[in-house]
Amino acid sequence: MSKIYLSLGTNLGDKKGNLEHAVILLSEKVSVVKVSSFYETEPVGYKDQPWFMNIVVEGTTDLPPEDLLVFTQSIEHEMKRVKTIINGPRIIDVDILLYENVKINTETLTIPHPRMKERAFVMYPLFEIAPDLLIDGKSLKSMMENFKGEEISRLDV
Ligand code: AMP
Repeated sequence: MSKIYLSLGTNLGDKKGNLEHAVILLSEKVSVVKVSSFYETEPVGYKDQPWFMNIVVEGTTDLPPEDLLVFTQSIEHEMKRVKTIINGPRIIDVDILLYENVKINTETLTIPHPRMKERAFVMYPLFEIAPDLLIDGKSLKSMMENFKGEEISRLDV
């Protein structure tokens, strides 16, 4: 079994419900060990869209990295298919943040996720569930020093 961290986000429809649904679907092939609180985050870049809700999940899996990507993409497709009619196409995004200490850089998969360190909506929930985690020998706290903090708030739900 390999230890993994995943980032889940949504900005359409019943956001909390979308995240909970995705975690249930994930549990088919990933043993979910920890789930962070829900975080509300301001959209990065294109601002004219609803705020996002994000979580980070720690789990273990027997799937190798490429198969894990196929599996997480199948969840994105399944939820998109179910919800497209009502809410539009972008209701869930699942990113693979870390897979043990594995480094991968192929056309379809980069691990650690290349943009995770700049994203408050990834690093805050990750820090909540894995405060002692090191990435390339660096603490999460040291990577988060430049974050401003106003773009993210933790929900008490
Ligand atoms: P997006 O929907 O914007 O998250 O982008 C998904 C694309 O990113 C897919 O085509 C994946 O092949 C690619 N990708 C590369 N590395 C990763 C990763 N660590 N986790 C999820 N998707 C990845």
